[in-house]
Amino acid sequence: MDNKEKIYDVCIVGAGFSGLVLAIKLARAGLLVCLAELNRVVGRRILSTGNGRCNFTNSRMGSAYYYSNHSLDFIEDNHLDLIGFLRELGVIEREFDGYYYPITNQAKTVRDALENEINALGIDVLLDNRVTDITKGDLFTVTTHRTTINAKQVCVASGGLSAATLGSSKFGYKMANKFKMKVTKLAPALVGVCSKDICLKDLAGVRALGKVTYKEASCEGEIQFNKDGISGYPVMCISRYIGFDELDKRLSDISVDFIYFMSDEELNQELHKRFKHNENATILAVLNGLSNEKIIQTVVSYARIYGDTLVSKLDDEDIDNLVYFFKHFSISLDGTKGFDSSQVTAGGIDLDSIDLDTMESKNCKGLYFTGEVLDVDGICGGYNLTWAYSSASKVAEAIIKEV
Ligand SMILES: Cc1cc2nc3c(=O)[nH]c(=O)nc-3n(C[C@H](O)[C@H](O)[C@H](O)COP(=O)(O)OP(=O)(O)OC[C@H]3O[C@@H](n4cnc5c(N)ncnc54)[C@H](O)[C@@H]3O)c2cc1C
Repeated sequence: MDNKEKIYDVCIVGAGFSGLVLAIKLARAGLLVCLAELNRVVGRRILSTGNGRCNFTNSRMGSAYYYSNHSLDFIEDNHLDLIGFLRELGVIEREFDGYYYPITNQAKTVRDALENEINALGIDVLLDNRVTDITKGDLFTVTTHRTTINAKQVCVASGGLSAATLGSSKFGYKMANKFKMKVTKLAPALVGVCSKDICLKDLAGVRALGKVTYKEASCEGEIQFNKDGISGYPVMCISRYIGFDELDKRLSDISVDFIYFMSDEELNQELHKRFKHNENATILAVLNGLSNEKIIQTVVSYARIYGDTLVSKLDDEDIDNLVYFFKHFSISLDGTKGFDSSQVTAGGIDLDSIDLDTMESKNCKGLYFTGEVLDVDGICGGYNLTWAYSSASKVAEAIIKEV
């Protein structure tokens, strides 16, 4: 039978992680499911996750790892459920410091496992079908640029605006507006930031540990300096705040603490000790080992000290300056690298418009939303795929119960 003549129990818009999980759960419960996907393959984005290794979940879970304009107390810790779900599909996990990957270290393993199950369950997948509209009569009609699909219920799993080349669209937000649901401001998150700060002339190419602070937000880890900006885990984790401030045109500088494992006072004492024991050494020799060599050279020049100065020639004020620049190194920003470079979209469909037990729209019975299209974004570490899974599981549970 042509899919136009079928009446599906559920049509899912978007065959990303969330849509695929949902389709599998519903089809296993005996429901007739159709997936409509704009790409020519399912799960295109999964292939790029975790640098091609797919960091799909984390042992540290809870609402503290997520952001939203809404309270996130409803977020449940179900990473073990996700691990179990993938195991059933043949994906054996490997855990490293709480971060979970497939043991193959290949994101393709996860994508292929989902696709194999979709095929085994005989789910109708309409690839290369960009959904353009959803209308509600007795049934839902889902219109793509090639066909129409009739379904009793619809779930929008069309993701956010990030990484357009992997398949992204404004569709979910458009539908939310159509059904009079609120959409919050959207900003790129988990993304590098742009800067023309003069320090990057010296620091481009450097990778160094540090704590990055932007207003109230801070995060520690390896920072990567490039000629046109900075990236790395701590920058990615706080980038959502920079994204929103860029929208509101109220960007500030970021501050980097290169010696985050010592307080200002402890570093001051450490420098006094080093200076006392090495009076005839140069400043660069005495500071060796505190941070990356290029960071040390830059901090010394910011403190207005020549690298070959003997420490016996320096005084307390020089030490205060060194402590200041090591621990409060300010870098001016021009904004984030934008949605195309981002891993996730911060903001989305307002959770106030959604029944959080079922993920059903409060304004349209039978219309559900799942995954990144909603106003929930996690930090780096497998949290976004876990959210895509958890929200899909909620939708599946609700629809199966209802049917
Ligand atoms: C480079 C990169 C690395 C990442 N690494 C990780 C990681 O290691 N761990 C982690 O947890 N998260 C990671 N993420 C984030 C994670 O991939 C997403 O949060 C997650 O995939 C969201 O799942 P989703 O199903 O909601 O949306 P998506 O995976 O984006 O799926 C949405 C699907 O809908 C389709 N679609 C959109 N509009 C339409 C339309 N109009 N009609 C039909 N189809 C449509 C899209 O083509 C897409 O296939 C990464 C993201 C990127 C870009």
